[in-house]
Amino acid sequence: MKRLAGKTALITGAARGIGLAFAKAYVSEGARVALADIDIARAQMAAKEIGEAAIAIEMDVTNQHSIDSAIAQTLDGFGRIDILINNAAIFTAAPVVEIERTDYQRVFDINVSGTLFTLQAVARHMIEQGIKGRIINMASQAGRRGEPLVAVYCASKAAVISLTQSAGLNLIQHGINVNAIAPGVVDGEHWDGVDAFFAKHEGKPPGQKKREVAAAVPHGRMGRAEDLTGMAVFLASDEADYVVAQTYNVDGGNWMS
Ligand code: NAD
Repeated sequence: MKRLAGKTALITGAARGIGLAFAKAYVSEGARVALADIDIARAQMAAKEIGEAAIAIEMDVTNQHSIDSAIAQTLDGFGRIDILINNAAIFTAAPVVEIERTDYQRVFDINVSGTLFTLQAVARHMIEQGIKGRIINMASQAGRRGEPLVAVYCASKAAVISLTQSAGLNLIQHGINVNAIAPGVVDGEHWDGVDAFFAKHEGKPPGQKKREVAAAVPHGRMGRAEDLTGMAVFLASDEADYVVAQTYNVDGGNWMS
């Protein structure tokens, strides 16, 4: 028996990277998935590649109308939402004295408000329909401790961990489990950008920052999106019924809590 048979999932930021790996893993476990992303062209390509168990939806998590519309489109396609993964996020970095208010606002709009108000809208649907659903937020090791050049992103991910705790405690009375995953360093386009930033700010050759973080991971390498799918399937499955308001590190041993 597939572990997510008959379930439907809405995954934000699913056009590429970790969100796309989650979508593929969910489909292989029997779920149908809505790939919601601001990059609709890429989400459509990804959905086409996955096949008939996937639909692509244009969504900007900073916009309430877009959140409501994404949920309506998922319901049009699948009739219900059992699982939400709040995965969409952006990364920025700057020395503290150079942080710009607009940059801070953009990161918090996507990473924090986007997570909260998508979670809220999907939780309302689940409560109305009596769905004992699962909500998974993407946190980060960056939410566990600050980093000298990454104040805004780290603070946004600390907020995601806190929101997971409060929403988890508030929604379990409805049978909705809210939990989070905190990855470490996962190679992909996100980290291509991080590497480029550090190349500029620390004068490192391209690829050097990746080599350094990989060497520092106790497991011995950077993560791959596929390293996270086991936890994402588990948290969405019936096996996780008693798991509430937690944030799980899946990071090769980078952080212990
Ligand atoms: P990514 O940058 O490759 O993908 C993010 C996706 O979000 C993109 O498809 C992008 O188009 C989409 N997106 C951006 N703004 C959006 C918006 N306003 N509305 C809807 N979609 C939007 O990132 P990734 O590496 O796949 O990371 C996925 C999640 O995991 C993020 O929450 C990230 O913070 C977290 N994370 C990643 C790492 C890592 O090392 N890659 C580490 C820790 C945590």
